[in-house]
Amino acid sequence: ATPVALMVGTGRGAQLGILIKGPEALEQTRTVDTVVLDKTGTVTTGVMSLLRVVAGPGEDRADVHRVAAALESASEHPIARAVAAGVAPEDTARVGDPQALAGLGVTGRVGSREAVVGRPRLLRERGLELPPALEDELSRAEDTGATAVLVGWDGAARGVLVVGDELKPTSAEAVRRLRALGLRPMLLTGDNERAARAVAVELGIDDVVAGVLPEDKVETVRRLRSEGRRVAFVGDGVNDAAALATADLGLAMGTGTDAAIEAGDLTLVRGDLMVAVDALRLSRRTHATIR
Ligand code: ADP
Ligand code: MG
Repeated sequence: ATPVALMVGTGRGAQLGILIKGPEALEQTRTVDTVVLDKTGTVTTGVMSLLRVVAGPGEDRADVHRVAAALESASEHPIARAVAAGVAPEDTARVGDPQALAGLGVTGRVGSREAVVGRPRLLRERGLELPPALEDELSRAEDTGATAVLVGWDGAARGVLVVGDELKPTSAEAVRRLRALGLRPMLLTGDNERAARAVAVELGIDDVVAGVLPEDKVETVRRLRSEGRRVAFVGDGVNDAAALATADLGLAMGTGTDAAIEAGDLTLVRGDLMVAVDALRLSRRTHATIR
C-alpha cells in the first residue's frame, strides 16, 4: 500500500501547486518540528525597490548609481534588479571579470575602477574604507528596517544604496498556521539584524538568525538537526541551495532561482508560503495513510 499512498500524496500535491521530486521526498517528513524560513523572496516579495542612493563625500550620485548598476547586471539577486532599475541600459557600463558572490554582492572592473557592490562586510574584507558620512547613512537606513548596500572602488566606499521590499500578503497567516500545527518557525537571513527583526515582529517570529553567510545557513540547519530537531527549510535563492539540500525537507519557492529548485525536495509553484503549510500537512496525511 505504501507506493499507492505516496502516489496519492504526489497527485494531491500537484493539485495544490506543489511539485514533488520523487515519492521518497515525502518520506520521514512527518516528524518535522521546525520550519526555518529564508527572508528575502521567501516571506517577503523579493521585489525590492530602490529607495535612495546616497553619494559619499565628493562623489556624484548618478556615477555611484551607474557603477553599482553595472556590477549588478552580473547578479540574479533581488537587490540587483532594484539597483539596475532606473539606469538606462545604454548607460550601463560594461563590466570586466564580473564575479557574483552569493550572499555578499558583486565585484568587477568598471572602466579603470576595481569596483565592489554589496554588504558592508564584503567591502571591509576587500580593504575598502567606510567614510563616517556613509556609515551614518548605513545605520540610519538599517534602523528603519531597510537593507543598505555599499558601492565602492579605489580603496573606499563611495555610496550607499537603500533597498526594501514587503511581506507577501499570506506570510503572516502562514506562520500562524505553522504554529497552530505545533511547528516552530525560525527566520534565517543574510540581511542585517534590524531589517530581519522588523520582518520577524510583523510575522510573530521570536527566533531570528541574521547577518549570516550562505555557509552559515547550512551550519544553522546542521546545528538544529544535531540538537535533535527535524528541520524543514524554505528558501528561494542561490544562497539557500545548500541549506535546502541539508534540511530534512527542502521546500523551494517556484518563483526562485534554479539552484534552489534543484536543491529542494519540493517546489512551491506559486511561491506562496501558505502552500508550504499545505505541503507539511500533506506529508503528514500521506504518512497517516501509509501507517
Ligand atoms: P537573504 O538571506 O535575505 O535571502 P542573501 O543571503 O541573499 O539574503 O544576501 C545577504 C546580504 O548580502 C544582502 O542583504 C545584501 O546586503 C548582500 N547581497 C547579496 N547579494 C547582493 C547583490 N547582488 N548586490 C548587493 N548586495 C548583495
Ligand atoms: Mg532569499
